[in-house]
Amino acid sequence: MYTLIDTLKNGKTNWVDMKQSFEIAVFDGDGIGPEIMGPTCDILQHLASASNAYELRFTPAPAGAAHYAETGESLPATSMEIARNADAILLSAMGLPTVRYPDGTEISPQIELRKALTLFAGVRPVTIQPGQPTPLNMPPGKSVDFVLIRESTEGLFYTQGRGEVTKDEARETLRITRDISEKLFQFAFNLAHDRKAHGRGPGRVTCVDKANVFRAFAFFREIFDVEAAKHPDLIADHAYVDATALWMVTKPWDFDVLVTENMFGDILSDLGAGLMGGLGLAPSADIGLDNAVFQPCHGSAPDIAGQGVANPLAMILSAAMMLEWLGLRHDNPAMTRDGMRLRKGVGDVVASGQMLTRDLGGTAGTAQAAQAVIDAL
Ligand code: ATP
Repeated sequence: MYTLIDTLKNGKTNWVDMKQSFEIAVFDGDGIGPEIMGPTCDILQHLASASNAYELRFTPAPAGAAHYAETGESLPATSMEIARNADAILLSAMGLPTVRYPDGTEISPQIELRKALTLFAGVRPVTIQPGQPTPLNMPPGKSVDFVLIRESTEGLFYTQGRGEVTKDEARETLRITRDISEKLFQFAFNLAHDRKAHGRGPGRVTCVDKANVFRAFAFFREIFDVEAAKHPDLIADHAYVDATALWMVTKPWDFDVLVTENMFGDILSDLGAGLMGGLGLAPSADIGLDNAVFQPCHGSAPDIAGQGVANPLAMILSAAMMLEWLGLRHDNPAMTRDGMRLRKGVGDVVASGQMLTRDLGGTAGTAQAAQAVIDAL
């Protein structure tokens, strides 16, 4: 499919298979970060080497709390450039409780990346397959497969680090802009289209807000409705955030694509991770118009770092999302298929109950769990 016409001296043309090549910026970060990133890159390389449609080149991008302790810089300009120029960014986890800026705040270059690259769509898939441990009472035959999209650059995080606090009062500002909301909703409806095309949902987008109480959310909803009108082939509806929290527990199988404000999404995505049996299986992506970061929802887990017991599956699922995203974006269906295969490979490992790490009730180490995914592929 990817061919180059090479005109030879004798006038004949020679069709040469050409792989699309992708640059991946790799932030392996702090704590368990390098332990889960190593096997993830190995799996990606394994898939790419077997493919004649794409190849991957990994460039390490040093950043994070340990890097700050060593050099005084948490996100060097060179790493920022590597991220900006890459086709996609893989990030494990950054931050350590013992290393802080002089004002006492935690080191979180991932938030700086989100803002600097305008990664407005925080994509948090919630999937529960048969056999997967979950606190839910799943009716027989039901599975859960929905995506929560959390706006990630404004909302109630707008004044993060700049809130006003006096002796008697504290204020933060919620900001919702037309520009970002339009991009966010366009992204949500496009995602619902893709999911429907791949048989993963009915093509429904639900705007999660609190429009009955706050004018800002009525504004948010109005912009949603304008975008919804452009997609008559999809279903668009609304839900209040409090009811959504309830329904995520009582009937999560009814959702397809949910889209919401930053703080609401922050809270609901942890609820989603809880439904999936914990953070060890919760992948995520932060996507903008030109860049995207793929990283697990969990942190750097310093309490288990260096022991070889970290669960790599959320990182591997994030890498699968990266392949799917790159494949769709660059019209490389083989790559999208590899992303789906990788996701299924992880699902098979979890469903088999073999080779699970301690957080999922097993005894396997990081390397064994990653090897099980390769075997499942
Ligand atoms: P952050 O604030 O950076 O999100 P956190 O302090 O809230 O981080 P984590 O670093 O995610 O939390 O760790 C929370 C708990 O989950 C810890 O006990 C940690 O060991 C466990 N944990 C997190 N990720 C993993 C993983 N990949 N494998 C096994 N256990 C994990």
